[in-house]
Amino acid sequence: MDSHALHPPDLSVTIGEHGRRKWVYSDVAHGRFTRARTILYSVLVLFYVAAPWLSIAGQPFLRFDIPARRYSIIGMTFVPTDLYLLALFLLLAALGMFFFSALLGRLWCGWTCPQTVYLDGVFRRIERWIEGTPLQRRKLDNGPHDDTYWAKKLAKHTLFGAFSLFLSLSFTAYFVGPQASFGMVLGSVAGHSAALITALIIAAASYANFAWFREQFCTFLCPYARFQSVMLDDHSLIVGYDPQRGEPRGMLRPTDLASRGDCIDCKRCVQVCPTGIDIRDGLQLECISCTACIDACDTVMDRIGKPRGLVRYDSLAGIARKPRRVIRARVLLYAVVMAVLLVGFITRLSSREAVALTVARAPGLPYLAQNDGKVRNTFNLYITNTEAHSETVTVSVIGPAGVDLLVPGQPFEVGGGERINAEAFVMLPAAQIRSSETPLTFRLTQGDNLLSTQPAVFLGPIHSTAK
Ligand code: SF4
Ligand code: SF4
Repeated sequence: MDSHALHPPDLSVTIGEHGRRKWVYSDVAHGRFTRARTILYSVLVLFYVAAPWLSIAGQPFLRFDIPARRYSIIGMTFVPTDLYLLALFLLLAALGMFFFSALLGRLWCGWTCPQTVYLDGVFRRIERWIEGTPLQRRKLDNGPHDDTYWAKKLAKHTLFGAFSLFLSLSFTAYFVGPQASFGMVLGSVAGHSAALITALIIAAASYANFAWFREQFCTFLCPYARFQSVMLDDHSLIVGYDPQRGEPRGMLRPTDLASRGDCIDCKRCVQVCPTGIDIRDGLQLECISCTACIDACDTVMDRIGKPRGLVRYDSLAGIARKPRRVIRARVLLYAVVMAVLLVGFITRLSSREAVALTVARAPGLPYLAQNDGKVRNTFNLYITNTEAHSETVTVSVIGPAGVDLLVPGQPFEVGGGERINAEAFVMLPAAQIRSSETPLTFRLTQGDNLLSTQPAVFLGPIHSTAK
Protein backbone atom coordinates (compact mmCIF):
# COMPACT_ATOMS: atom_id res chain seq x y z
CA MET A 1 0.00 0.00 0.00
CA ASP A 2 1.89 3.08 -1.12
CA SER A 3 -0.37 5.69 -2.64
CA HIS A 4 -1.85 6.85 0.64
CA ALA A 5 -0.16 5.88 3.87
CA LEU A 6 -2.21 5.22 6.98
CA HIS A 7 -1.31 8.03 9.36
CA PRO A 8 -0.20 7.04 12.86
CA PRO A 9 -2.66 7.18 15.74
CA ASP A 10 -0.70 9.88 17.59
CA LEU A 11 -2.08 12.26 14.98
CA SER A 12 -5.65 11.09 15.53
CA VAL A 13 -8.25 13.72 14.83
CA THR A 14 -10.03 12.86 18.08
CA ILE A 15 -7.05 13.89 20.20
CA GLY A 16 -6.38 17.58 20.57
CA GLU A 17 -3.57 19.56 22.13
CA HIS A 18 -2.16 18.19 25.41
CA GLY A 19 -3.96 14.89 24.76
CA ARG A 20 -7.44 16.30 25.33
CA ARG A 21 -10.29 14.41 23.71
CA LYS A 22 -11.83 16.15 20.71
CA TRP A 23 -15.49 15.20 20.52
CA VAL A 24 -16.91 14.20 17.13
CA TYR A 25 -20.33 15.69 16.38
CA SER A 26 -21.18 13.74 13.25
CA ASP A 27 -24.29 14.37 11.20
CA VAL A 28 -26.53 11.81 9.53
CA ALA A 29 -26.00 11.11 5.83
CA HIS A 30 -28.89 10.28 3.52
CA GLY A 31 -28.60 7.93 0.59
CA ARG A 32 -28.64 4.34 -0.65
CA PHE A 33 -25.81 3.03 1.54
CA THR A 34 -27.17 4.68 4.68
CA ARG A 35 -30.60 3.16 4.01
CA ALA A 36 -29.08 -0.28 3.48
CA ARG A 37 -26.94 0.03 6.62
CA THR A 38 -29.92 1.14 8.72
CA ILE A 39 -31.86 -1.97 7.69
CA LEU A 40 -28.85 -4.22 8.25
CA TYR A 41 -28.09 -2.70 11.67
CA SER A 42 -31.68 -3.34 12.80
CA VAL A 43 -31.45 -6.96 11.67
CA LEU A 44 -28.05 -7.41 13.30
CA VAL A 45 -29.06 -5.85 16.64
CA LEU A 46 -31.90 -8.39 16.73
CA PHE A 47 -29.56 -11.19 15.66
CA TYR A 48 -26.82 -10.41 18.19
CA VAL A 49 -29.39 -10.29 20.99
CA ALA A 50 -31.30 -13.37 19.79
CA ALA A 51 -28.32 -15.60 18.89
CA PRO A 52 -27.91 -17.11 22.41
CA TRP A 53 -31.61 -18.11 22.33
CA LEU A 54 -31.35 -19.95 19.00
CA SER A 55 -30.60 -23.63 18.59
CA ILE A 56 -29.92 -26.00 15.70
CA ALA A 57 -31.14 -29.59 16.07
CA GLY A 58 -31.30 -29.15 19.82
CA GLN A 59 -27.76 -27.72 20.14
CA PRO A 60 -27.21 -24.03 21.05
CA PHE A 61 -26.47 -21.92 17.98
CA LEU A 62 -23.69 -20.12 19.88
CA ARG A 63 -22.63 -20.95 23.44
CA PHE A 64 -19.25 -20.79 25.15
CA ASP A 65 -19.72 -22.73 28.38
CA ILE A 66 -16.27 -22.18 29.86
CA PRO A 67 -16.71 -23.98 33.25
CA ALA A 68 -18.01 -27.10 31.43
CA ARG A 69 -15.47 -26.60 28.60
CA ARG A 70 -18.23 -27.05 26.04
CA TYR A 71 -18.44 -24.74 23.03
CA SER A 72 -21.29 -24.66 20.52
CA ILE A 73 -20.66 -22.82 17.25
CA ILE A 74 -23.37 -22.79 14.58
CA GLY A 75 -24.95 -25.80 16.28
CA MET A 76 -21.68 -27.80 16.34
CA THR A 77 -20.67 -28.73 19.87
CA PHE A 78 -16.99 -28.98 20.73
CA VAL A 79 -15.78 -30.62 23.95
CA PRO A 80 -12.21 -30.83 25.33
CA THR A 81 -11.42 -33.90 23.21
CA ASP A 82 -12.29 -31.81 20.11
CA LEU A 83 -9.59 -29.24 20.75
CA TYR A 84 -7.99 -29.85 17.35
CA LEU A 85 -11.38 -29.33 15.65
CA LEU A 86 -11.96 -26.09 17.53
CA ALA A 87 -8.43 -24.94 16.68
CA LEU A 88 -9.08 -25.74 13.00
CA PHE A 89 -12.33 -23.80 13.10
CA LEU A 90 -10.67 -20.74 14.68
CA LEU A 91 -7.84 -20.93 12.15
CA LEU A 92 -10.40 -21.03 9.36
CA ALA A 93 -12.18 -18.01 10.83
CA ALA A 94 -8.89 -16.05 11.08
CA LEU A 95 -7.93 -16.93 7.50
CA GLY A 96 -11.45 -16.02 6.36
CA MET A 97 -10.93 -12.58 7.90
CA PHE A 98 -7.63 -12.16 6.00
CA PHE A 99 -9.25 -13.38 2.78
CA PHE A 100 -12.28 -11.10 2.96
CA SER A 101 -10.20 -8.12 4.11
CA ALA A 102 -7.83 -8.54 1.15
CA LEU A 103 -10.86 -8.52 -1.15
CA LEU A 104 -13.36 -6.26 0.56
CA GLY A 105 -11.29 -4.11 2.91
CA ARG A 106 -13.03 -3.04 6.10
CA LEU A 107 -16.51 -4.06 5.05
CA TRP A 108 -16.84 -5.90 8.37
CA CYS A 109 -16.04 -2.73 10.37
CA GLY A 110 -18.56 -0.47 8.68
CA TRP A 111 -21.39 -2.90 8.18
CA THR A 112 -21.42 -5.74 10.69
CA CYS A 113 -19.05 -5.21 13.63
CA PRO A 114 -21.07 -5.10 16.90
CA GLN A 115 -19.14 -1.96 17.94
CA THR A 116 -20.39 -0.07 14.85
CA VAL A 117 -23.81 -1.70 14.83
CA TYR A 118 -24.60 -0.79 18.45
CA LEU A 119 -22.87 2.62 18.37
CA ASP A 120 -24.52 3.78 15.15
CA GLY A 121 -27.67 1.70 15.32
CA VAL A 122 -28.56 2.40 18.97
CA PHE A 123 -26.42 4.81 21.02
CA ARG A 124 -26.02 7.62 18.46
CA ARG A 125 -29.74 7.37 17.73
CA ILE A 126 -30.57 7.86 21.42
CA GLU A 127 -28.14 10.79 21.50
CA ARG A 128 -29.71 12.48 18.45
CA TRP A 129 -33.18 11.86 19.82
CA ILE A 130 -32.40 13.59 23.14
CA GLU A 131 -29.75 16.17 22.24
CA GLY A 132 -30.64 16.96 18.63
CA THR A 133 -28.51 17.85 15.61
CA PRO A 134 -24.69 18.16 15.68
CA LEU A 135 -25.01 21.94 16.09
CA GLN A 136 -27.46 21.59 18.98
CA ARG A 137 -25.24 18.96 20.64
CA ARG A 138 -22.17 21.16 20.32
CA LYS A 139 -24.06 24.15 21.76
CA LEU A 140 -25.32 22.05 24.65
CA ASP A 141 -21.82 20.82 25.52
CA ASN A 142 -20.21 24.25 25.21
CA GLY A 143 -23.08 26.19 26.79
CA PRO A 144 -24.03 26.80 30.43
CA HIS A 145 -24.59 23.73 32.58
CA ASP A 146 -28.17 24.74 33.40
CA ASP A 147 -31.27 22.65 34.14
CA THR A 148 -31.80 21.82 30.47
CA TYR A 149 -28.22 20.61 30.15
CA TRP A 150 -28.48 18.32 33.18
CA ALA A 151 -31.95 17.05 32.26
CA LYS A 152 -30.76 16.05 28.78
CA LYS A 153 -27.52 14.51 30.01
CA LEU A 154 -29.36 12.59 32.74
CA ALA A 155 -31.94 11.26 30.26
CA LYS A 156 -29.27 10.26 27.74
CA HIS A 157 -26.97 8.55 30.21
CA THR A 158 -29.85 6.75 31.95
CA LEU A 159 -30.86 5.24 28.60
CA PHE A 160 -27.20 4.50 27.77
CA GLY A 161 -26.83 2.75 31.13
CA ALA A 162 -30.03 0.73 30.73
CA PHE A 163 -29.09 -0.42 27.23
CA SER A 164 -25.54 -1.22 28.37
CA LEU A 165 -26.97 -3.50 31.08
CA PHE A 166 -29.22 -5.15 28.51
CA LEU A 167 -26.22 -5.61 26.19
CA SER A 168 -24.19 -7.06 29.01
CA LEU A 169 -26.89 -9.64 29.83
CA SER A 170 -27.15 -10.50 26.12
CA PHE A 171 -23.39 -10.93 26.02
CA THR A 172 -23.28 -13.02 29.22
CA ALA A 173 -25.99 -15.22 27.68
CA TYR A 174 -23.40 -16.41 25.15
CA PHE A 175 -21.54 -17.99 28.10
CA VAL A 176 -24.15 -19.06 30.65
CA GLY A 177 -27.27 -19.34 28.47
CA PRO A 178 -30.11 -16.79 28.18
CA GLN A 179 -32.27 -18.19 30.99
CA ALA A 180 -29.43 -17.98 33.51
CA SER A 181 -28.27 -14.60 32.23
CA PHE A 182 -31.60 -12.76 32.24
CA GLY A 183 -32.75 -14.83 35.24
CA MET A 184 -30.06 -13.11 37.32
CA VAL A 185 -31.92 -9.82 36.97
CA LEU A 186 -35.50 -10.99 36.58
CA GLY A 187 -35.33 -13.76 39.17
CA SER A 188 -33.04 -14.97 41.88
CA VAL A 189 -29.31 -14.27 41.83
CA ALA A 190 -28.66 -17.25 44.09
CA GLY A 191 -25.97 -19.42 42.56
CA HIS A 192 -25.19 -16.80 39.89
CA SER A 193 -23.35 -14.21 41.95
CA ALA A 194 -20.08 -14.61 39.98
CA ALA A 195 -21.94 -14.29 36.67
CA LEU A 196 -23.87 -11.27 37.98
CA ILE A 197 -20.67 -9.48 39.03
CA THR A 198 -19.19 -10.29 35.60
CA ALA A 199 -22.35 -8.95 33.89
CA LEU A 200 -22.17 -5.71 35.91
CA ILE A 201 -18.50 -5.22 35.04
CA ILE A 202 -19.29 -5.82 31.34
CA ALA A 203 -22.22 -3.38 31.59
CA ALA A 204 -19.91 -0.72 33.06
CA ALA A 205 -17.28 -1.34 30.33
CA SER A 206 -19.97 -1.26 27.66
CA TYR A 207 -21.35 2.03 29.00
CA ALA A 208 -17.85 3.59 29.12
CA ASN A 209 -17.20 2.38 25.58
CA PHE A 210 -20.43 3.62 23.99
CA ALA A 211 -20.82 6.80 26.04
CA TRP A 212 -17.24 7.99 25.92
CA PHE A 213 -14.65 5.84 24.14
CA ARG A 214 -16.67 5.32 20.95
CA GLU A 215 -14.74 5.68 17.67
CA GLN A 216 -11.45 5.61 19.62
CA PHE A 217 -12.11 1.93 20.35
CA CYS A 218 -11.67 1.20 16.62
CA THR A 219 -8.56 3.35 16.31
CA PHE A 220 -6.67 2.46 19.47
CA LEU A 221 -7.96 -0.85 20.83
CA CYS A 222 -9.31 -3.04 18.04
CA PRO A 223 -6.52 -5.36 16.81
CA TYR A 224 -8.29 -5.77 13.47
CA ALA A 225 -7.84 -2.06 12.73
CA ARG A 226 -4.17 -2.29 13.66
CA PHE A 227 -3.66 -5.13 11.14
CA GLN A 228 -5.11 -3.12 8.27
CA SER A 229 -1.80 -2.18 6.69
CA VAL A 230 -0.85 -5.86 6.29
CA MET A 231 -4.27 -7.13 5.27
CA LEU A 232 -5.10 -4.52 2.63
CA ASP A 233 -3.23 -3.78 -0.56
CA ASP A 234 -3.71 -1.46 -3.52
CA HIS A 235 -6.43 -3.73 -4.95
CA SER A 236 -8.57 -4.14 -1.83
CA LEU A 237 -11.95 -2.47 -1.74
CA ILE A 238 -11.89 0.82 0.16
CA VAL A 239 -13.92 3.99 0.45
CA GLY A 240 -11.82 6.60 -1.30
CA TYR A 241 -11.84 10.13 -2.67
CA ASP A 242 -10.82 10.66 -6.28
CA PRO A 243 -8.30 13.53 -6.21
CA GLN A 244 -7.79 13.46 -10.00
CA ARG A 245 -11.44 14.34 -10.40
CA GLY A 246 -11.91 16.46 -7.30
CA GLU A 247 -8.81 18.68 -7.30
CA PRO A 248 -8.21 21.55 -7.32
CA ARG A 249 -11.10 21.84 -4.91
CA GLY A 250 -12.87 25.08 -4.24
CA MET A 251 -16.20 26.78 -3.77
CA LEU A 252 -18.62 26.66 -6.65
CA ARG A 253 -18.10 29.88 -8.62
CA PRO A 254 -19.39 30.28 -12.19
CA THR A 255 -16.33 32.36 -13.14
CA ASP A 256 -13.69 29.66 -12.77
CA LEU A 257 -15.65 26.43 -13.23
CA ALA A 258 -13.33 25.15 -15.97
CA SER A 259 -10.19 25.36 -13.83
CA ARG A 260 -11.70 23.65 -10.79
CA GLY A 261 -12.18 20.01 -9.88
CA ASP A 262 -15.53 18.58 -8.86
CA CYS A 263 -14.99 18.97 -5.11
CA ILE A 264 -16.69 22.18 -4.01
CA ASP A 265 -15.07 21.94 -0.56
CA CYS A 266 -18.46 21.89 1.15
CA LYS A 267 -17.02 19.52 3.79
CA ARG A 268 -20.25 17.57 3.89
CA CYS A 269 -18.21 14.34 3.74
CA VAL A 270 -16.34 15.42 6.89
CA GLN A 271 -19.51 16.45 8.73
CA VAL A 272 -21.06 12.98 8.41
CA CYS A 273 -17.93 11.00 9.22
CA PRO A 274 -18.44 9.22 12.56
CA THR A 275 -14.68 9.08 13.14
CA GLY A 276 -14.18 12.77 12.35
CA ILE A 277 -11.70 12.34 9.49
CA ASP A 278 -11.52 13.97 6.07
CA ILE A 279 -11.62 11.22 3.44
CA ARG A 280 -9.93 13.64 1.02
CA ASP A 281 -6.69 13.21 3.01
CA GLY A 282 -6.41 9.64 1.72
CA LEU A 283 -6.89 6.25 3.33
CA GLN A 284 -6.63 6.55 7.09
CA LEU A 285 -6.48 4.17 10.01
CA GLU A 286 -9.68 5.66 11.46
CA CYS A 287 -11.78 4.98 8.32
CA ILE A 288 -14.18 2.12 9.07
CA SER A 289 -15.60 2.09 5.52
CA CYS A 290 -19.05 3.07 6.76
CA THR A 291 -19.88 4.79 3.41
CA ALA A 292 -21.50 7.84 5.08
CA CYS A 293 -19.16 10.11 3.11
CA ILE A 294 -20.15 8.40 -0.17
CA ASP A 295 -23.82 9.16 0.44
CA ALA A 296 -23.04 12.71 1.57
CA CYS A 297 -20.92 13.48 -1.48
CA ASP A 298 -23.31 11.79 -3.91
CA THR A 299 -26.09 14.04 -2.58
CA VAL A 300 -23.88 17.09 -3.20
CA MET A 301 -22.98 15.88 -6.72
CA ASP A 302 -26.70 15.36 -7.50
CA ARG A 303 -27.39 18.90 -6.36
CA ILE A 304 -24.66 20.51 -8.49
CA GLY A 305 -25.35 18.30 -11.50
CA LYS A 306 -22.09 16.33 -11.49
CA PRO A 307 -21.79 12.56 -11.77
CA ARG A 308 -21.82 10.61 -8.52
CA GLY A 309 -18.74 8.76 -7.29
CA LEU A 310 -16.27 11.53 -6.38
CA VAL A 311 -16.12 9.61 -3.11
CA ARG A 312 -16.80 5.96 -3.86
CA TYR A 313 -16.14 2.31 -3.25
CA ASP A 314 -12.99 1.56 -5.21
CA SER A 315 -9.41 0.42 -4.68
CA LEU A 316 -6.28 2.54 -4.39
CA ALA A 317 -5.33 1.20 -7.84
CA GLY A 318 -8.75 2.15 -9.25
CA ILE A 319 -8.56 5.66 -7.82
CA ALA A 320 -5.08 6.02 -9.38
CA ARG A 321 -6.64 4.97 -12.75
CA LYS A 322 -4.76 1.66 -12.76
CA PRO A 323 -6.45 -1.69 -13.42
CA ARG A 324 -7.80 -3.36 -10.29
CA ARG A 325 -6.85 -7.01 -9.89
CA VAL A 326 -9.38 -8.95 -7.84
CA ILE A 327 -7.55 -12.30 -8.16
CA ARG A 328 -4.00 -11.92 -6.90
CA ALA A 329 -1.35 -14.05 -5.20
CA ARG A 330 -2.36 -13.40 -1.59
CA VAL A 331 -6.06 -13.93 -2.33
CA LEU A 332 -5.29 -17.22 -4.10
CA LEU A 333 -3.01 -18.33 -1.28
CA TYR A 334 -5.66 -17.62 1.37
CA ALA A 335 -8.30 -19.42 -0.73
CA VAL A 336 -6.15 -22.54 -1.22
CA VAL A 337 -5.12 -22.77 2.45
CA MET A 338 -8.74 -22.21 3.52
CA ALA A 339 -9.96 -24.93 1.14
CA VAL A 340 -7.40 -27.43 2.51
CA LEU A 341 -8.30 -26.59 6.11
CA LEU A 342 -12.02 -26.78 5.33
CA VAL A 343 -11.67 -30.26 3.82
CA GLY A 344 -9.67 -31.36 6.89
CA PHE A 345 -12.25 -29.83 9.22
CA ILE A 346 -15.23 -31.47 7.49
CA THR A 347 -13.45 -34.84 7.31
CA ARG A 348 -12.56 -34.81 11.01
CA LEU A 349 -15.99 -33.53 11.97
CA SER A 350 -17.83 -36.23 10.03
CA SER A 351 -15.59 -38.99 11.42
CA ARG A 352 -16.00 -37.75 15.00
CA GLU A 353 -17.74 -40.20 17.34
CA ALA A 354 -20.98 -38.65 18.57
CA VAL A 355 -20.57 -40.39 21.92
CA ALA A 356 -16.92 -40.97 22.67
CA LEU A 357 -14.95 -42.70 25.37
CA THR A 358 -11.52 -41.59 26.58
CA VAL A 359 -9.52 -43.76 28.98
CA ALA A 360 -6.63 -42.58 31.15
CA ARG A 361 -4.66 -44.41 33.79
CA ALA A 362 -5.49 -43.13 37.29
CA PRO A 363 -2.60 -41.41 39.03
CA GLY A 364 -0.89 -43.27 41.88
CA LEU A 365 0.15 -46.93 42.16
CA PRO A 366 0.45 -48.68 38.73
CA TYR A 367 -1.26 -51.82 40.11
CA LEU A 368 -2.45 -53.41 43.33
CA ALA A 369 -2.09 -57.09 44.27
CA GLN A 370 -5.34 -58.15 45.95
CA ASN A 371 -5.73 -60.86 48.61
CA ASP A 372 -7.90 -62.96 46.26
CA GLY A 373 -4.96 -63.62 43.91
CA LYS A 374 -6.00 -60.93 41.42
CA VAL A 375 -4.13 -57.81 40.32
CA ARG A 376 -6.06 -54.55 40.03
CA ASN A 377 -5.53 -51.49 37.78
CA THR A 378 -7.54 -48.28 38.14
CA PHE A 379 -8.56 -46.14 35.15
CA ASN A 380 -10.39 -42.83 34.73
CA LEU A 381 -13.11 -42.88 32.07
CA TYR A 382 -14.41 -39.76 30.28
CA ILE A 383 -17.62 -40.18 28.29
CA THR A 384 -18.54 -37.30 26.00
CA ASN A 385 -21.89 -36.91 24.30
CA THR A 386 -21.90 -34.32 21.49
CA GLU A 387 -25.47 -35.22 20.50
CA ALA A 388 -28.40 -32.96 21.43
CA HIS A 389 -30.23 -35.73 23.32
CA SER A 390 -29.10 -37.88 26.24
CA GLU A 391 -27.76 -41.41 25.77
CA THR A 392 -27.65 -44.39 28.16
CA VAL A 393 -24.31 -46.12 27.78
CA THR A 394 -22.34 -48.98 29.31
CA VAL A 395 -18.59 -49.62 29.47
CA SER A 396 -17.09 -53.10 29.12
CA VAL A 397 -13.57 -54.43 28.64
CA ILE A 398 -12.00 -57.10 26.42
CA GLY A 399 -8.78 -58.75 27.61
CA PRO A 400 -7.22 -62.09 28.59
CA ALA A 401 -9.40 -64.86 30.05
CA GLY A 402 -10.58 -64.03 33.56
CA VAL A 403 -10.49 -60.23 33.10
CA ASP A 404 -13.06 -58.54 35.27
CA LEU A 405 -14.38 -54.96 35.22
CA LEU A 406 -16.08 -52.94 37.94
CA VAL A 407 -17.47 -49.50 36.99
CA PRO A 408 -19.55 -48.06 39.85
CA GLY A 409 -22.69 -46.28 38.63
CA GLN A 410 -23.15 -48.16 35.34
CA PRO A 411 -25.09 -47.74 33.08
CA PHE A 412 -24.59 -43.99 32.64
CA GLU A 413 -27.13 -41.45 31.44
CA VAL A 414 -25.06 -38.82 29.57
CA GLY A 415 -27.01 -35.66 28.76
CA GLY A 416 -26.83 -33.90 25.38
CA GLY A 417 -23.53 -32.01 25.11
CA GLU A 418 -22.40 -33.41 28.47
CA ARG A 419 -19.15 -35.00 29.57
CA ILE A 420 -19.00 -37.30 32.58
CA ASN A 421 -16.12 -38.87 34.50
CA ALA A 422 -16.13 -42.32 36.11
CA GLU A 423 -13.67 -44.67 37.72
CA ALA A 424 -13.07 -48.18 36.36
CA PHE A 425 -11.34 -51.06 38.17
CA VAL A 426 -9.93 -53.86 36.01
CA MET A 427 -9.01 -57.13 37.76
CA LEU A 428 -6.92 -59.92 36.23
CA PRO A 429 -5.96 -63.22 37.90
CA ALA A 430 -2.23 -62.99 38.61
CA ALA A 431 -1.77 -66.39 36.90
CA GLN A 432 -3.08 -64.90 33.62
CA ILE A 433 -0.51 -62.10 33.46
CA ARG A 434 1.98 -63.10 30.75
CA SER A 435 3.49 -59.65 30.20
CA SER A 436 4.19 -56.54 32.27
CA GLU A 437 1.93 -54.69 29.82
CA THR A 438 -1.20 -56.62 28.89
CA PRO A 439 -3.31 -55.00 26.14
CA LEU A 440 -6.97 -54.27 26.92
CA THR A 441 -9.79 -52.77 24.90
CA PHE A 442 -12.50 -50.68 26.53
CA ARG A 443 -15.84 -50.67 24.73
CA LEU A 444 -18.64 -48.12 25.02
CA THR A 445 -22.03 -49.50 24.00
CA GLN A 446 -25.63 -48.40 23.91
CA GLY A 447 -27.67 -51.57 24.01
CA ASP A 448 -26.20 -53.68 21.20
CA ASN A 449 -24.66 -50.65 19.44
CA LEU A 450 -20.93 -50.25 19.72
CA LEU A 451 -20.29 -46.49 20.04
CA SER A 452 -16.59 -46.24 20.77
CA THR A 453 -13.52 -48.34 21.58
CA GLN A 454 -10.36 -47.32 23.38
CA PRO A 455 -7.12 -49.28 23.80
CA ALA A 456 -5.44 -49.41 27.22
CA VAL A 457 -2.64 -51.29 28.92
CA PHE A 458 -2.91 -53.39 32.08
CA LEU A 459 0.22 -53.22 34.24
CA GLY A 460 1.15 -56.06 36.56
CA PRO A 461 3.89 -58.46 37.73
CA ILE A 462 4.52 -61.44 35.44
CA HIS A 463 3.43 -64.60 37.25
CA SER A 464 6.40 -66.83 38.09
CA THR A 465 4.91 -69.97 36.42
CA ALA A 466 4.12 -67.96 33.30
CA LYS A 467 7.67 -66.68 32.78
S1 SF4 B 1 -18.80 16.13 0.08
FE1 SF4 B 1 -17.82 15.83 -1.90
S2 SF4 B 1 -17.80 17.90 -2.71
FE2 SF4 B 1 -18.17 18.16 -0.56
S3 SF4 B 1 -16.13 18.41 0.32
FE3 SF4 B 1 -16.60 16.23 0.40
S4 SF4 B 1 -15.68 15.44 -1.47
FE4 SF4 B 1 -15.84 17.63 -1.74
S1 SF4 C 1 -14.11 8.45 5.87
FE1 SF4 C 1 -16.13 7.93 5.06
S2 SF4 C 1 -16.21 5.70 5.09
FE2 SF4 C 1 -14.48 6.33 6.37
S3 SF4 C 1 -15.35 6.40 8.43
FE3 SF4 C 1 -15.50 8.47 7.60
S4 SF4 C 1 -17.53 8.54 6.66
FE4 SF4 C 1 -17.08 6.40 7.02
